[in-house]
Amino acid sequence: MEVFDTIIVGAGAAGLMAGAHLSHQKVLLLEAQPRVAQKVAIAGGGRCNFTNVHVDASHYLGDSTFVSSVLEEFDNRAVLAYVKRHSIATVCEKNDQYFCAQSAKNLIDALLRDNAHHTLKTNTSVKSATKKGDLFTLDTTQGTYQSRHLLIATGGASYPKIGGNESGLALAKSFGHSVNPFESVLVGWTLQSPQAWMRDLSGVSLRATVRVGEKAFTDWLLFAHKGISGPAVLSASLYWKRGSVSIDFLPDFALKELSHHPKKLLANALPLPHRLALALLEALEIPNVSYKSLDKSALTKLSLLKAYTFAPAGTFGLSKAEACRGGVATDEIDASSMQSRIIEGLFFAGEVVDVTGELGGYNIQWAFSSAVCAAKALAKA
Ligand SMILES: Cc1cc2nc3c(=O)[nH]c(=O)nc-3n(C[C@H](O)[C@H](O)[C@H](O)COP(=O)(O)OP(=O)(O)OC[C@H]3O[C@@H](n4cnc5c(N)ncnc54)[C@H](O)[C@@H]3O)c2cc1C
Repeated sequence: MEVFDTIIVGAGAAGLMAGAHLSHQKVLLLEAQPRVAQKVAIAGGGRCNFTNVHVDASHYLGDSTFVSSVLEEFDNRAVLAYVKRHSIATVCEKNDQYFCAQSAKNLIDALLRDNAHHTLKTNTSVKSATKKGDLFTLDTTQGTYQSRHLLIATGGASYPKIGGNESGLALAKSFGHSVNPFESVLVGWTLQSPQAWMRDLSGVSLRATVRVGEKAFTDWLLFAHKGISGPAVLSASLYWKRGSVSIDFLPDFALKELSHHPKKLLANALPLPHRLALALLEALEIPNVSYKSLDKSALTKLSLLKAYTFAPAGTFGLSKAEACRGGVATDEIDASSMQSRIIEGLFFAGEVVDVTGELGGYNIQWAFSSAVCAAKALAKA
C-alpha cells in the first residue's frame, strides 16, 4: 500500500492551509463532503472575513499562552501577505475586519491551487485511525490509507448540513487525548417567558452593548422569532454558559439627555425604534409619559434601559452556530508544533482544537495560524 508522508483529515480552512505549506511532502487530503471548505465558502456572508486588525489572544477563548504562541507562527500580516501573493482583492470593514472583496471562492481557489500537487479525495470520511510502529492507518468510507504523520483538521460540529461533526473529537479520544465537548457559540439566544415580549419585535434591530461577565460587545442586535441575534449577541455568546447577561439598549445616549425634551412622551424622546421603545417601557412597567412627569421609582426603572439584565433560555443551536467552543484539550498539544504530546506524529489544527475566536475573522485566522504551525513542524519531521 502507498504510504503518504502526511494524511490531512478535513479539507477545510486549516487542512487546505496546512497542505499549501507542505509542498515538498507527499500529502493525502481526505474530505468527507463532496466539496472542500464549505464553511469558508459561506463565511462572512460569502466573502469570508478571514482575519482582523486586532489579532491577539484576548479575542480567543482558550489558554492564552498557547493561543499567543500559535498565532505568532502565522499572524494577521502573514495571512494578508498570503492573500496578496494570490492577488485576492480584500476590503477592511468596520475598521478592523478583512474580507475578500469579491468572493470567498477566490480564497478557496488559491488554497486549492497551492494543494494541486497533493492527492485530494472528497466524499471520503475517516471512520477511525490507529498507529502501529511508525505508521498511521486510516479506515475510511472509501478504503484504507497509510501515512507517517497524521493531521486532524476536521473542524467543529456547527452547521451539520455542510459537514460539521464531532469525528475529530472521537479520533483524538481514540489516541488517548482529553477533549472538552463541543457547544454552540457565535449564535443567537432563545428567551425565557419574562422576555417573551422581545419575540413580538421580530425584524427590529438597533445598536446595543451586550455584556457577559467582564466582556462587552457593542454592535447590532437583532430581534428574531426564535429570540435575539445579530453581531453583538453572537460575539457575547462565546463567553456565555448559563446565567445572566445585560443589554444597554442606548450605548450612545446618556439618560440625562432626556431632560432636553422634558415634555415629549418617553417613547418619542428615546432614540430607539418606536416599537422597541414602547415594548421596553411596558416590560419595565414605566409609564409612557414625559420625562419631567416621571416619579422616583420610574426614574430608577428607566436606568434599566442601559442595563437590562436577564438569563437567556439557551442558544439557537448547532444548526445556526458559527463556531463551537470546546475541542481537543490544549495542554496535551505542543504549542510550538501543534503535535500531540501523547502520540508522536499526530497533529491537530483549526476548530477541532479547544480554542475559539470571537466574531470578526478570528476563527479563520486561528485555523490558518494553527495549520501553518503544524505544517512547519511536519515539513521538518
Ligand atoms: C455560517 C458561518 C459563517 C462563518 N463566518 C466566519 C467568518 O466570516 N470569519 C471567521 O473567522 N470564521 C467564520 N466562521 C467559522 C469558520 O468557518 C471556522 O471556524 C473555520 O472554517 C474552521 O476551520 P477548520 O479547517 O478547522 O474547519 P472546517 O473549515 O469546518 O473544515 C473541516 C473539514 O473537515 C471535514 N471533515 C469533518 N470530519 C471529517 C472526517 N471524519 N473525514 C474527512 N473529513 C472530515 C469537513 O467536511 C470540513 O470540510 C463561520 C462559520 C459558519 C458556520
